[in-house]
Amino acid sequence: MDIHQHITTTIQEINRELPKQTRLVAISKYHPAEMIQTAYEAGQRVFGESHVQELQQKVGVLPADIEWHFIGHLQTNKVKYIAPYVSLIHAVDSLRLLQEIEKQAARCNRTIRVLLQLHLAQEETKFGLTPAECDQLLSEGAWCDMPHIQIAGIMCMASNVDDETQIANEFRTARQYFEKARQQFFPDSEAFCECSMGMSDDYPIAVREGSTLVRVGSKIFGPRVY
Ligand SMILES: *Cc1c(COP(=O)(O)O)cnc(C)c1O
Repeated sequence: MDIHQHITTTIQEINRELPKQTRLVAISKYHPAEMIQTAYEAGQRVFGESHVQELQQKVGVLPADIEWHFIGHLQTNKVKYIAPYVSLIHAVDSLRLLQEIEKQAARCNRTIRVLLQLHLAQEETKFGLTPAECDQLLSEGAWCDMPHIQIAGIMCMASNVDDETQIANEFRTARQYFEKARQQFFPDSEAFCECSMGMSDDYPIAVREGSTLVRVGSKIFGPRVY
């Protein structure tokens, strides 16, 4: 089957199967704008990218009503480029990055929604906050004085393993952390509402464990050529 036909069919299938509380973020990194246009014509409006320069180029040539999410590790010196249009930043893991997003969002006179990246997977990585670090960032409260940021929930990746029980356990832990943080830090707010979890290989598990945003790339667009 031709790739454009595959994209159209897969976008429609996934959107048909997802429960109403879960939205699809089509992860289009490393894929050309024509493929995004095909997904757009199949009805998809939310796309995720992980490199600032690539995102900038695509924004310039694609329809203006696309909701762009930034999903990768974001360097503070690059925030200014995406601040004018980005609608959700998925992987915030430091106060310094929050402060820079606040500053750039203020300059653009807008509010940017962000998710805190929780690190639960077994792999060693320098990205993401442990639940204790996340608690600390939220309880220190500096974010309360950042009117141009809305902390909208959490994001997490499961370990890259075949064991579905382990993957489900990690997603369940993330969802439980989300519920706890909502009660403790956002009791009177509807804004803290997103649990971004699940990728091509594990999103059905994430949906069962309460994901509200699944980030699906290669299943839709095919393998990435780096
Ligand atoms: C690339 C990426 C995805 C999509 O991965 P697929 O396996 O292609 O679905 C999801 N989340 C993050 C953070 C990514 O970097």
